[in-house]
Amino acid sequence: MRTSEIRTRWLEYFAANGHEIRPSVSLVSPEPSILFTVAGMVPFIPYILGTEPAPWPRAASVQKCIRTNDIDNVGKTTRHGTFFQMNGNFSFGDYFKEGAIGYAWELLTSSLSDGGYGLDGDRLWMTIWEEDRVSWDYLTREIGVPAEHVQTLPFKDISWSTGQPGPAGSCCEIHYDRGSAYGPDGGPLVDLQGDRFLEIWNLVFDEFLRGEGEGHDFELVGRLDKTAIDTGAGLERLAFLMQDKPNMYEIDEVYPVIAAAQSMSGRSYGAGAAGPEAGEAYLDDVRMRVVADHVRSALMLIGDGVRPGNDGRGYVLRRLIRRAVRSMRLLGVQDPALPVLLTASKDAMKASYPELEASWHTISEVAYAEEEAFRRTLEAGTTILDTAVAQARSAAGGTGRAVVPGDRAFALHDTYGFPIDLTLEMAAEQGVAVDEEGFRSLMEAQKERARADARAKKAGHTDVRVFQDVEKAMGGGSQFLGYTESACEA
Ligand code: ATP
Ligand code: MG
Ligand code: MG
Ligand code: MG
Repeated sequence: MRTSEIRTRWLEYFAANGHEIRPSVSLVSPEPSILFTVAGMVPFIPYILGTEPAPWPRAASVQKCIRTNDIDNVGKTTRHGTFFQMNGNFSFGDYFKEGAIGYAWELLTSSLSDGGYGLDGDRLWMTIWEEDRVSWDYLTREIGVPAEHVQTLPFKDISWSTGQPGPAGSCCEIHYDRGSAYGPDGGPLVDLQGDRFLEIWNLVFDEFLRGEGEGHDFELVGRLDKTAIDTGAGLERLAFLMQDKPNMYEIDEVYPVIAAAQSMSGRSYGAGAAGPEAGEAYLDDVRMRVVADHVRSALMLIGDGVRPGNDGRGYVLRRLIRRAVRSMRLLGVQDPALPVLLTASKDAMKASYPELEASWHTISEVAYAEEEAFRRTLEAGTTILDTAVAQARSAAGGTGRAVVPGDRAFALHDTYGFPIDLTLEMAAEQGVAVDEEGFRSLMEAQKERARADARAKKAGHTDVRVFQDVEKAMGGGSQFLGYTESACEA
């Protein structure tokens, strides 16, 4: 079943069950405290918090999402994209735990001919809060799920809150057992990070009020006047199960880019299926998956109005495009790659997002210009970097601890527009470290000089938020989750 049909079935199922169908909002988050829309609930936050009355008691959507905190997982796990689509259903004071579990179970396990997803119920495993008797009873008695398939956890490991005083609750997470070929038995708790038990759907039950506290260290101080249901199921995860593919990068909406990268590079995708022990062949597979993911994210971000830049969202977009282009170079492709790859991605996505055709001219121009600019940067800086790496190597002699000095990294940044993450990445590929601390202190000194200049001129002001964004965006593992604080992230 095509991904666009899995999507349509979701909306049809929840429409038939009285839900208002809402369109996806932009990837540029409508919630000002976060850069990107990271979950289906983002546009519904005021109704969940109760700060605005909900216009409908129940709603459903398929939301476009960007999660930069997953960037290092992309291509290495089976299940993380920087762009993905989160199917969601929501209840604002209407149905609660039993309703949410009932809908999830019915949609997942109903046969394909009945409009469902036709998954085998015997392969579903749930994790719930150990004190959640309602979910326990409903799952084991009403539905008849075997008790060992319902695993219970302390609140701190299965809770959700906004990270500040306000609504909080526990979750019920639904996992799919892909079978013994993918890892040891025993349920998701023994294999949470493995490939065997795939988390497909998170049901969040908002019923409590929480107090002050950091992380998951907070007290429950009361109950909400109105409970809420907030769920999210990864569309790509459902698709790879239903299309019987090994990972989300091989579904119909993503794979065509891998196929294009394969024919451009002449290397064969899948030769590294054995995993890291397959060496270069595995790395090539990861590169092609990274390319497919990042190109799609860039397509969707530009489509939503984001433009490459040096801070905030623009920097994230720039970094995604650069990583895709660099991955193609590592696959041996020197020619411009986006004209082929971005077109392949657009063609794969347009069944679900027909608006991509209308804005294609702009999207492609923006992306191709960014690739060109990056090619010029690489041309200018690569020789300088390679020289610095070679010198670092010979300075280290036989010690094996070659380090590119901070001032060389700073010069690359300052004169050739080589961002530090690129220097780090390219040096690491040659087995050489970079004195990042030295680089940062030179950056700091430069910033300080700029600040002193600005003070001296008594002109202009520094918008510190821009620097914070850059720092965050450069942090690699940066968490743009901002608003939500969820143990169900685990
Ligand atoms: P995981 O533990 O696999 O990282 P999560 O617990 O962080 O997932 P949630 O925040 O619970 O994910 O989001 C709800 C659902 O959205 C997940 O159950 C999953 O199906 C999907 N999802 C989350 N992150 C991604 C991603 N980076 N790529 C694809 N799907 C995702
Ligand atoms: Mg989760
Ligand atoms: Mg999780
Ligand atoms: Mg996660």
